[in-house]
Amino acid sequence: MEHAVAVSPWVSLAYLVAGVCFILALRGLSSPVTSQRGNRFGMIGMAIAVVTTLVTHLPVVVPPFDAGGGRIDDRWNFWDPLVVVEILGAIGLGAAIGIVTARRIAMTAMPQLVAAFHSLVGLAAVLVAAAAFLNPLAFGIAQVIRPIYGPDLITILPVSRIEMALGVAIGAITFSGSVIAFLKLNGNMSGKPILLPGRHVINLALLASILGLIAYFVTDQSPWIFWTITVLSFVIGFLLIVPIGGADMPVVVSMLNSYSGWAAAAMGFTLHNTAMIVTGALVGSSGAILSYIMCRAMNRSFISVIAGGFGGDSSGGAAAAASDRPWKRGSAEDAAFLMSQAEQVIIVPGYGMAVAQAQHALREMGDKLKAHGVRVKYAIHPVAGRMPGHMNVLLAEANVPYDEVFELEDINSEFAQTDVAFVIGANDVTNPAAKTDKSSPIYGMPVLDVEKAKTVLFIKRSMGGVGYAGVDNELFYRDNTMMLLADAKKMVEEIVKSLD
Ligand code: NDP
Repeated sequence: MEHAVAVSPWVSLAYLVAGVCFILALRGLSSPVTSQRGNRFGMIGMAIAVVTTLVTHLPVVVPPFDAGGGRIDDRWNFWDPLVVVEILGAIGLGAAIGIVTARRIAMTAMPQLVAAFHSLVGLAAVLVAAAAFLNPLAFGIAQVIRPIYGPDLITILPVSRIEMALGVAIGAITFSGSVIAFLKLNGNMSGKPILLPGRHVINLALLASILGLIAYFVTDQSPWIFWTITVLSFVIGFLLIVPIGGADMPVVVSMLNSYSGWAAAAMGFTLHNTAMIVTGALVGSSGAILSYIMCRAMNRSFISVIAGGFGGDSSGGAAAAASDRPWKRGSAEDAAFLMSQAEQVIIVPGYGMAVAQAQHALREMGDKLKAHGVRVKYAIHPVAGRMPGHMNVLLAEANVPYDEVFELEDINSEFAQTDVAFVIGANDVTNPAAKTDKSSPIYGMPVLDVEKAKTVLFIKRSMGGVGYAGVDNELFYRDNTMMLLADAKKMVEEIVKSLD
């Protein structure tokens, strides 16, 4: 049995080093200052893991002249060239697709790319589990029983059946859930919650059936059980994500990140690969912690997220409606004047800044204001943009000093003492409906209290355009608000000119 095969201590050591590199990578990624170092650790760890796996798993061919009774010398053994070509070809193809995609992708499309990658991890887990089920002997997870009469019986080890069934279930949920998340984030599917009647009961029934079948699979390895688990898991992944909509998508992205980690860990068990188990567990648990942090930021319950459809109970009553109420329009010159006279300006970036790629112009504006003696701070909402940390990444790219960037809880109390709140392409994260309107899909989410500043400047392209949650923002019509309607980059560039 493969289980009993001793793993070389060098392989274990290499996987241990790779695991430590991944932990250092996560640690590095916890702050923008150390994130590049974290990324490097991640790459080194992955290189060690991939090379070790390749070296230990490539089939070795012993040259025929050794087999002919001559001196057997391991140094002359070589890897099967066909397999080497196949593996290097697959790695090369994958790397080429990855490099081209990473270079081409716009920062604004990053969340759907992440969702697409998660779906691939899920699909890989399903395929590995299916391959192991169809050919368990090749994976070393089965025993051959030779009855006196009749054909040999191949029995999959009970523990492997559990690993396999869990792997296929988590993988299938991750796959179908990520496909739905991709379609929603990419705009191919409406971001609005799709609420099936009785969905909680259906989900619970499906979950109970999947768990029941996994238990049954331990006693009976009939193919129908394995494939039913697979199909039901695809269905529940779809049903869990479909009802989630609007402002709740960030939690879904981090939750699917966590699922993809557990799917990889399950694959690691089937393949007896320690590095995969460790990496999968790291991704799974860090994703779960991120989901928990996002839930806290959104004021949602963690359990209801896992159950699915937590955002769906609101009717979306405050749906977008371009209001006829009066509003004030300002120009770049007005904005430049107001800000240059201010003691403190708090800049609130949002998704629109990412769309316009206005971060460099924004940094320049900050520098100009500081030269005018204005104190400049940046306020980051945890779900601003379209992925966790989106705004931090863009501001870091534009070399905005880290000590000017503040998280919601650290800066929210300062708006009341601030002359100008400069909101650039942010909408939902400033919307007071989250505090007051129970029918709003963003109700309960903490928001930046920009309205408490003496003046609020809002950059967006039109009065009709709404944020991701699709709701109107009452702040646009307030007395202390001035709308700057234009593309964010163009408007900021004009403000910079006016500040000269
Ligand atoms: P919003 O999506 O609420 O608003 C974006 C604003 O930017 C809109 O008012 C839009 O108005 C404006 N805009 C778009 N393009 C431009 C442009 N080129 N120039 C100027 N303005 C522009 O963004 P927020 O950052 O405030 O909120 C994020 C939302 O996304 C939340 O609802 C969050 O839950 C959700 N989300 C977040 C994720 C995350 O992980 N951070 C993941 C998935 C969803 P107009 O069209 O009129 O210009």
